[in-house]
Amino acid sequence: MLARFMMVCLLAVGFVAGQGVKNENLRWKINGVRRMAYTFDPNFPQQARQSVLSGIQRWNQVLGDCLPLQPRQANDRDYITVFNGGGCFSMIGKVGGSQSLSLGVNGCLHRGTVIHEFLHAAGLIHTQKRPDRDNFITMHWGNIVENWKSQFTKESSNYIGKYSEYDLYSIMHYTTRHPSWSINNRPGFTPKNPNVDQRRIGTGNDFAQSDVQAIRRMYRCPERKFRPISNSNNRKQGDDERRPILCSNK
Ligand SMILES: [Zn+2]
Repeated sequence: MLARFMMVCLLAVGFVAGQGVKNENLRWKINGVRRMAYTFDPNFPQQARQSVLSGIQRWNQVLGDCLPLQPRQANDRDYITVFNGGGCFSMIGKVGGSQSLSLGVNGCLHRGTVIHEFLHAAGLIHTQKRPDRDNFITMHWGNIVENWKSQFTKESSNYIGKYSEYDLYSIMHYTTRHPSWSINNRPGFTPKNPNVDQRRIGTGNDFAQSDVQAIRRMYRCPERKFRPISNSNNRKQGDDERRPILCSNK
């Protein structure tokens, strides 16, 4: 089952290559209505569900008029099954039928991570994989562990459309370094703009404006004013609450 899932995931990632899938079939619509449906795997611990639900509540506060995330109803053929996998990862876009989204209970229950994974499921890739990323970051391949390098390869603009400007503070951007993949804690990339606050890259706990805009444009929803949570990605203080999001779509 897991092997099959991995394969599907690889295919899905290979299929897509900006930041959002161009293929309309990968965008969510259930029975003709623009919405996403989710359910919990029966083995997903009860006490962990509340954390996921509070991320979903935030999603609906921001995107409920555009792409609501709703509990699966009996006749929903396509839906997301949240399970306790060995990490945080998701398919890119709507795959069809039940598709798995892993929120490991050890490390994936923060609001930022929950939103991040559902944004993958809605069709967004990691920001550092955008076809235009070389205009904004300089890669340091020698600082990245070999089997993580694929998380930094650019996707093709044949498959990926640009729905908002490149944003280093997007919740879909990797951190500059992480114990899982940096060699000797050296950065895997550095921003070209010297004024960027590197501590804010990849550590948000809420949508960035650019993430909301990307979904609204991809799904052709009216643009709306977005109000970030005060202790979020956009905050400059309170770095103690910053947590690097580590998500690997392998
Ligand atoms: Zn991710």
